[in-house]
Amino acid sequence: MATTPTPVALRPRPVMTKDTAFFWEAARQHRLVIQRCTRCGRLRHPPMPSCPHCLSLEWDTVDACGRGMLTTYTVLHRPLAPPFTGPQLIGVITLEEGTKLVAGLVGVERNRVAIGMPLQVEFLDCDPELTLPVFRPAVEIEQ
Ligand code: ZN
Repeated sequence: MATTPTPVALRPRPVMTKDTAFFWEAARQHRLVIQRCTRCGRLRHPPMPSCPHCLSLEWDTVDACGRGMLTTYTVLHRPLAPPFTGPQLIGVITLEEGTKLVAGLVGVERNRVAIGMPLQVEFLDCDPELTLPVFRPAVEIEQ
């Protein structure tokens, strides 16, 4: 007798629009990219259709080096539902390129998180359709 497979709880999807699709597609390729205005050259994140400085609609992307610094963080306790198994550390990371982004923190316990700590991106392949950039301390820390 065949058994019904147990449904697997998928990670919630970030908002993906035609303006943000390039970011998530790059993440699936394990690349962290930053949108760049091709008129004035400024970098921007989160992605948006026009440059907030010169209003140009023309843009391309640059690959980030993946290094950054923790600017601030929070601990999400709710909702604690599958696939999550505990509180989530969420950081605001300032990349070496100057833009900031929000991402999960991995490889560090809450009591060891420190504002200003150097971080390195890595990629969490959640399921076949979703890869998330997450950040890990760039230097070994005692837990
Ligand atoms: Zn511009």
